[in-house]
Amino acid sequence: MRQTVNTYDAIVIGAGLAGLSAAFDLAEHGLHVLVLERDPQVGGRTSSWKDNGMDVESGIHKFVGFYSEFKNFLERAGLNLDDVFIYQDEIEIRVAEGGEKNFRPGKRRRSGRFGISAIHRPVMTIGGALGNGELLSWRDKWQLVRFVIAGTVQYLRDPLSLDRYSIAEYARRHGVSENVIYTVLWTFSSGLFFLSPERYSAYPFFALTWAGIKGSFSSRIAIFKGGMTEVMAGPIADAIVSRGGEVNTGVKVDRILFEDGRAVGAAAGDQIYFAPRVVLAATIAPAKAIIEASENVPDDSELEKLRVLPDMSGVTVQIELDRPALPDDHVIFGANSILGTFAEQSHTTFPNSKGRISTFLTPTEPYINMEDKDIVAAVVADLRRHGIDVEGRIVNSAVVRHASEFYLLEPGSEEKRPYQQTSIPGFALAGDYTRQSHICSMEGAVVSGRRAAKAVNSPRLK
Ligand SMILES: Cc1cc2nc3c(=O)[nH]c(=O)nc-3n(C[C@H](O)[C@H](O)[C@H](O)COP(=O)(O)OP(=O)(O)OC[C@H]3O[C@@H](n4cnc5c(N)ncnc54)[C@H](O)[C@@H]3O)c2cc1C
Repeated sequence: MRQTVNTYDAIVIGAGLAGLSAAFDLAEHGLHVLVLERDPQVGGRTSSWKDNGMDVESGIHKFVGFYSEFKNFLERAGLNLDDVFIYQDEIEIRVAEGGEKNFRPGKRRRSGRFGISAIHRPVMTIGGALGNGELLSWRDKWQLVRFVIAGTVQYLRDPLSLDRYSIAEYARRHGVSENVIYTVLWTFSSGLFFLSPERYSAYPFFALTWAGIKGSFSSRIAIFKGGMTEVMAGPIADAIVSRGGEVNTGVKVDRILFEDGRAVGAAAGDQIYFAPRVVLAATIAPAKAIIEASENVPDDSELEKLRVLPDMSGVTVQIELDRPALPDDHVIFGANSILGTFAEQSHTTFPNSKGRISTFLTPTEPYINMEDKDIVAAVVADLRRHGIDVEGRIVNSAVVRHASEFYLLEPGSEEKRPYQQTSIPGFALAGDYTRQSHICSMEGAVVSGRRAAKAVNSPRLK
């Protein structure tokens, strides 16, 4: 077999936000960077594409006001934030078959929505819950306040000690009622990370709470103004190319080349790429497979952690309709149903759609191997339980499976997350699963990419 050999200053494997962030920083430092991406489009879990004539995306994403590194990155890459995001001022928690139990905190009680963005802003969310007389008793409210204060203080004193408990266990230890656990806390665990409060670790809960407290109380939530590859990942790749980098899609890297205890390149089929710096920014499961397939891998404690870090999956469902299912595109948490969060998208992200409703499912396990038509039927049934009837109005649909793409947010995972910097010269890890305090998020991915670029960009590596 004929081998093609190419030489670069740095290779980045994976063009999700972590890889793009690392590659951009390396290109900014004047290095000739090559990005190798397996998929036909850039963006990874923040990407969009066409499937069977339908605009599909990895799933609805929310940009949160306190994402400072992510915002900074987009600006440094020359993107105008107004071309990327549309701000939203309301979210809703809708309890399926909940009647009067629907969550109605905030200014607009009758609409059943928050008057202010709250998804990643636990303090405001909990503040909203405290104003809700139908949902929480005074006793519930008092217990909730005490629990949030206790957990935040513990996070600041000894964050990892929180990773011994699920958020439900931790809440019970602080006298929080089952009612609060299955309404307010459910929103964070199932609505954001597809896990029930019994499985979701108290560590990420309070990491996000603290990030929300530190962030501005007036910060807002935004959704994307178009397909994520089109409005964000593609323009970032262009910024890398305009700084002398190369971004190649449709290239699946099989292994990393190590020689004399250091990284020297990567291989994809019969293509060999040499560089004294390699950033592995593939998703967690393929990152493990690439290391497994590589030869002469030096011993390294961060790679040991990667090998045993447990993962979890996600499933998103996107349904095209003959007309909008909802009058606007605010994000809804679908409590007491399989719809973790859902939203109409035809007024914002997909304006060419006549109507479009998108959701991700919680829990994931029953659906990851189920047939698409059965998944869509389950979503339609639960939309009906939320008072939204789309029967007979479906024009097209897509199910996107994110198999093993997230690190598992159960207790005990935090210490297993590897750092970006390894002991191997010229080699670093990037990805939302690598250790930083922003859990698995766009902000976390960007932060990890910056740190990985810094780790490999040593002047000693010529
Ligand atoms: C449905 C959904 C909703 C989400 N909602 C939010 C949200 O609201 N807010 C938020 O902040 N975050 C959200 N996230 C999380 C966010 O998308 C991720 O944390 C972030 O995009 C991860 O970026 P990454 O670069 O670490 O990984 P990825 O985006 O997974 O990038 C890894 C890249 O590596 C590529 N790759 C894999 N194997 C190979 C190989 N062998 N060779 C070459 N390339 C390879 C992949 O194709 C991919 O492009 C959501 C994620 C999903 C799926």
